[in-house]
Amino acid sequence: MRLILLGPPGAGKGTQAQRLVHKHDLIQLSTGEMLRAAVAAQTPVGLQAKDIMASGSLVPDEIVIGIISDRLDQPDMKNGFILDGFPRTVPQAAALDELLKKKHIKLDAVIELRVNESALLDRVENRVAEMRARGEEVRIDDTPEVLSKRLASYRTLTEPLIHYYSERRKLLTVDGMMTIEHVTREINRILSAIGAVEPKASKAAAPARQAKAGARKTAKPAGKKAAKTARKAAKTAPKAAKAASRGAKKAKKATKKTAGKTAKKVAKKPAKKAVRKVTKKRAKR
Ligand code: AMP
Repeated sequence: MRLILLGPPGAGKGTQAQRLVHKHDLIQLSTGEMLRAAVAAQTPVGLQAKDIMASGSLVPDEIVIGIISDRLDQPDMKNGFILDGFPRTVPQAAALDELLKKKHIKLDAVIELRVNESALLDRVENRVAEMRARGEEVRIDDTPEVLSKRLASYRTLTEPLIHYYSERRKLLTVDGMMTIEHVTREINRILSAIGAVEPKASKAAAPARQAKAGARKTAKPAGKKAAKTARKAAKTAPKAAKAASRGAKKAKKATKKTAGKTAKKVAKKPAKKAVRKVTKKRAKR
């Protein structure tokens, strides 16, 4: 599964990405994390990015595109990934499209976490407090001043991606104001709905599950689309069977009626002939 998580700073992208990684055995590709690691390791990229990041501005596109391109070539990407914090601009999204096309990788969905801006400052403040409590180093850009700059940059540069992916029919929007647990559940629900992951099993759905399992088995070699169609067919099959049986009953009734009528007609015909013959004979006499 290949996903992009989209949302402003503090929307919960990192938290949800970690949960998806855990559940679906994916790799999280967070450009922010990669850049922070580069800054800590003082690599040439890190040295270039350090001040830009501290100010809340965006690192130049070619740097992040280069990082992502290299990472996508690594063998651990095979089972899928979640992009968190990338792309952040329309040119980055276009570059990603090109990269994926060249590498023959298909993007399953872009999940937008929609949140009220007013809640974001509180969330980031909470994150800072939690990090401090855990004794972790606090991000240099997690201050109210830098956050407002990061938010402004999200609005002008990143938000147009909502339209970009919606036009390409990749966008799935989730209410990011729900609890962490609810957001996770909703993400998994929509991923099942689009066929990106197997739907969760329930006791009540046991017979349907068997039908679906059958559908999956038959459809496997034909790919996901065919599996989806087969699953749909498995769902509608009982309805179709009922309709067919109703139809068959009607047909039977109709046949009986027609057969009855025809039989009467057939029976009447020779009788009429016989009557005609008798009348002729009498007339002769
Ligand atoms: P994040 O952890 O996603 O909030 O990113 C932290 C900072 O890293 C951002 O404020 C940017 O300075 C930089 N950064 C992360 N991802 C990107 C990106 N895709 N394009 C440009 N800059 C980025």
